[in-house]
Amino acid sequence: MEESKKILTMSVGEMPGYGFDCECGRHHSVDINKILSGKGVLDQLPGALEEFRGRKILIVADDNTVLIGGNRVKEMMDGAGFDTELLVLPDHGYPVLLPDEETVGRLLVHTSDDTGLLLGVGSGTVNDLCKIVSYKMKLPFVIVGTAPSMDGYASVMAPLIVDRQKITYPAHYPYVIVTDTDLLNTAPLVMKQAGFGDVIGKYTALADWRLAHKIKGDHYCAVTAELVQNAVDDCVANMDAYFGGEPDAVLKMNDTLLLTGISIGLIGYTRPASGSEHHLAHFWELDAIANGVEHPLHGNSVGLGSIASAEVYKIMRERFEEVDAVSPPDPDMLREIYSRAGMALTPAELGIGTELFRRSLNNGYRIRPRYTIFNFTMEHGMLPEIADAVTGIMCGGAK
Ligand SMILES: [Zn+2]
Ligand SMILES: [Zn+2]
Repeated sequence: MEESKKILTMSVGEMPGYGFDCECGRHHSVDINKILSGKGVLDQLPGALEEFRGRKILIVADDNTVLIGGNRVKEMMDGAGFDTELLVLPDHGYPVLLPDEETVGRLLVHTSDDTGLLLGVGSGTVNDLCKIVSYKMKLPFVIVGTAPSMDGYASVMAPLIVDRQKITYPAHYPYVIVTDTDLLNTAPLVMKQAGFGDVIGKYTALADWRLAHKIKGDHYCAVTAELVQNAVDDCVANMDAYFGGEPDAVLKMNDTLLLTGISIGLIGYTRPASGSEHHLAHFWELDAIANGVEHPLHGNSVGLGSIASAEVYKIMRERFEEVDAVSPPDPDMLREIYSRAGMALTPAELGIGTELFRRSLNNGYRIRPRYTIFNFTMEHGMLPEIADAVTGIMCGGAK
């Protein structure tokens, strides 16, 4: 087998430490020490952290995740003779804990000279906070995932809210990732839907990547794209079992989330995991934060964003051969998948008003300097017209 293709046959648990020279001209590597993914793997945590014995381990959780796993992790580590401290970050009145300057600061002041490891127990926010603070402090961090809600566990990037902007900072991989399906399976439906939306959003992310390659000559790696595409297709094939809580399907979904995170580290940029659907999701999220209201979970917004992007693609591919050539997903195919998952098909279902939705279509591409179908549409002077058309399709009213 060609060296480049070997990774396509590996399980996520086999990937840590693996590296290869790829046909795309780059060297790819997975710089994670260990991934423990599967049923009951939380029990292996103390054994995996042996080298931190004798140093202070700061366990970080929020109001929810301390109950789901934080207390248990503390008990387990103390029972195994480790020196630990538990820090619970309260949400201070905002509906959810935000990964912003204030929370980063709170975590920072609780780390001390003798802290040897940050051990996060949580999902998106706790993971991002521990990742960025440990990176800045030059400390390793370990994450125990509590929900299959997003693809950030295995990602080197840390999205934070700074100056009310959502900025994705480069950081580092966790030393160990622990995703125990017994724990993940207790996550509420909305978090399982969010993880699913983050996975299905890869259809438009991959189309945007191919488009940027075709139109702008951006670097593209066919092996990484195939790796992600195969995993996403697999999740769609197993979606009913996943939502039914079958442990094997939950494991597969979680491994796909880990894999898409890993794909970012493989290639050194976020293209395989994030495109225009993420720009739209970030736009809505920032609007909600600016207004002090709760926003949908990241992955649920990404799901809706992928329908909107696919609608733009649908119009543009009929007019431009080069857009058709990148094989974008059909919006009705995505709707069929999301409706089987019980997820939002319209902005209204996520509390996104018609004007905000239209504004996001017109301006979402400004969030990141990264070429997508929205940039293509804008460059052809068609964005306002297409934004109106897609708003009509998705919010009702005149088409
Ligand atoms: Zn490559
Ligand atoms: Zn995402």
